[in-house]
Amino acid sequence: MRLRNIPGSRETIAASEYVVHEDVMRDKKGHWNEVFGNDQPLWLEIGMGKGRFIMEQAQTHPDTNFVGIEKYSSVLLRALEKRAVSEELNNLWFLRMDAVDITEVFGPQEVDGIYLNFSDPWPKDRHASRRLPSREFLRRYQQILKKGAHIEFKTDNRDLFTFAIECAQEEGWTIDVLTWNLHADEKLMEGNIMTEYEERFSSAGNPIFKLVITPPQA
Ligand code: SAM
Repeated sequence: MRLRNIPGSRETIAASEYVVHEDVMRDKKGHWNEVFGNDQPLWLEIGMGKGRFIMEQAQTHPDTNFVGIEKYSSVLLRALEKRAVSEELNNLWFLRMDAVDITEVFGPQEVDGIYLNFSDPWPKDRHASRRLPSREFLRRYQQILKKGAHIEFKTDNRDLFTFAIECAQEEGWTIDVLTWNLHADEKLMEGNIMTEYEERFSSAGNPIFKLVITPPQA
């Protein structure tokens, strides 16, 4: 998702009380518990888009800390607008950053889990390393995930899903959950929070795929 550039979005983000800003986010590496003021588990959503999923997660699970990561200011702005009219949340921060730098912002074994929801498919082979479930990204995630932590990935894109499964297998990750029709699985649907894309694509009749994977233990 890349919305047209919105004039003033960078300035609005810079002034936002909901964002850990680019000039200080690297100082938080290894100290996210201090940012939240507690030792609750920490989950990230990478590529959160307009933020519906992560905001609902934060409301539903006040005993967990969440960080929503989005690359584009124009998209993050939409999340900030939603956040301003939603319930006050003290367990959620937003970051505007490219996830390629994730290991500069989160320390070794600092993160309890990562959500990847409807990641951009980047269909051309030469762009494969930009796909968020690629081997390159899995190696980055592995550095910041705690032992036993996992990644939850949802998409309706068959090629991207197959690619994610192959990458996980090639990198030695364990596949804990794999379904080609999440919405037909009553058990897996317990507590499922729909993302903006999930709502749109499932309403159009597309099956939703879900993968849960755990990195190899050293
Ligand atoms: N997760 C949301 C959902 O399911 O409704 C949004 C899905 S949208 C297709 C993918 C989002 O990931 C876009 O907003 C895009 O800007 C963001 N994104 C893609 N690559 C990224 C990266 N390297 N770092 C951070 N965000 C990224």
